[in-house]
Amino acid sequence: MQNGFGRQRKAIVIGAGIGGLCTAIALGQIGWNVEICERARELKGIGAGIVLAANAMKALDKLGAGERVRSLGAPVRTAEIRDWRGRLLVSLPVREQAQRCGADSYMIHRADLQQALLVCVQKDSIRLGHSFSHFEQDENGVRVFFENGEAMHGDLLIGADGIHSTVRKQLFGEEPLRYSGFTAVRGIAVYGNERYPVETGGGFEAWGKGIRFGFSHIGHGRIHWFAAINAPAGAERRLAGDKQELLRRFEDWYEPVREVIAATNVSAMLWNDIYDRMPLQRWSEGRVTLAGDAAHPMLPNLGQGAGQGMEDALVLAHCLAPLGSHRKTADEGENHEGENKEMESMASGIEAACRQYEKLRLKRTRAIVQGSRMMGRVVQLENPIALAVRNLVMRTMPASLQAKRLDWIVMHEV
Ligand SMILES: Cc1cc2nc3c(=O)[nH]c(=O)nc-3n(C[C@H](O)[C@H](O)[C@H](O)COP(=O)(O)OP(=O)(O)OC[C@H]3O[C@@H](n4cnc5c(N)ncnc54)[C@H](O)[C@@H]3O)c2cc1C
Repeated sequence: MQNGFGRQRKAIVIGAGIGGLCTAIALGQIGWNVEICERARELKGIGAGIVLAANAMKALDKLGAGERVRSLGAPVRTAEIRDWRGRLLVSLPVREQAQRCGADSYMIHRADLQQALLVCVQKDSIRLGHSFSHFEQDENGVRVFFENGEAMHGDLLIGADGIHSTVRKQLFGEEPLRYSGFTAVRGIAVYGNERYPVETGGGFEAWGKGIRFGFSHIGHGRIHWFAAINAPAGAERRLAGDKQELLRRFEDWYEPVREVIAATNVSAMLWNDIYDRMPLQRWSEGRVTLAGDAAHPMLPNLGQGAGQGMEDALVLAHCLAPLGSHRKTADEGENHEGENKEMESMASGIEAACRQYEKLRLKRTRAIVQGSRMMGRVVQLENPIALAVRNLVMRTMPASLQAKRLDWIVMHEV
């Protein structure tokens, strides 16, 4: 695109997940031209429910998607933790927390979140069926190659291609995944329960021995539920699609656990072994950087994976903004020496912005990756004595103190 200032700066984002869409929106807001390259041939509304804590909602407001998300999702007004028989361990003071943070938390279907973000991305910026293969970079830019034989040139490449990121692999090599120790089964059902009417929003988690169940409203009469079941990696795969076996795991549990599972169509259930990765020391190399799960895959126990991708997007845009959104082109004017200097200074500007971005993000995301792992150990305990001690602490520690332990995560504003 040409105009009076020269060519618009161009970013290539790999992946049209939540991280990639947010990155594209944030860079669009600072005037960059963005191409989002997604390997899928179609953007399907897959996934289950997702919690968006106050920090994520504030980020969505800045990205221009907050209001739409509020209208599609459901505010969290109840957050109870119970044991598997339904005895209350703690009811978290969510209103008090929302007041402290200046924003409610929301639950939403991932497909609705995706829709709310798609409305905000630049028109015609998504290239479907573009599976990233590799990149080459030099002082003039970065060339990106796709499995379909196409190539694209840009000023910056962002790998937002999820936990199995190919961009990350080219940058930093192959590293092993870390298994969490549990499988997650997730489902969506249209279901009503008088104990948890829609007006109360939110829902509960019930904790058993190495097994946990979560239940939340996600708007429009739908319930998102999950079951986290301790098992060796791959062992629960044979369970996939077997609703009766899943129901057997929750024999005698607090209702509405079995009821809501029974009310769910198997086609609306997802079975996944849950992994994260060791945090990286850096995310960028020259004009190439990472965002979202590609940069910091984390266990879902703190409900922050998507929220951290949103924060990445805003911080990256903040770091790039001082570079401006346009650059001179080679055919502008006769001054080739000046042109070369301009190219060099832009290359170093982008590199410095990427380094500043990772510097601002590394510490916080590392702490949340570790916090999510630690939380996983506490909530999936199997040892009966440790479990009894944990439950006693939960019952006796003031609820407001328990909620405040997460303030460093949810009160953060980019
Ligand atoms: C059980 C579970 C529960 C969760 N609950 C929550 C929650 O409550 N709250 C929350 O904030 N987070 C939650 N998360 C985490 C959240 O879902 C992720 O952090 C978030 O979806 C990551 O988004 P992303 O865009 O970075 O990656 P992804 O969603 O994985 O998107 C990556 C995209 O890149 C594409 N892609 C991959 N490889 C290529 C390639 N080579 N070329 C082109 N495209 C490619 C993929 O097709 C995909 O569209 C949960 C995760 C799990 C597993």
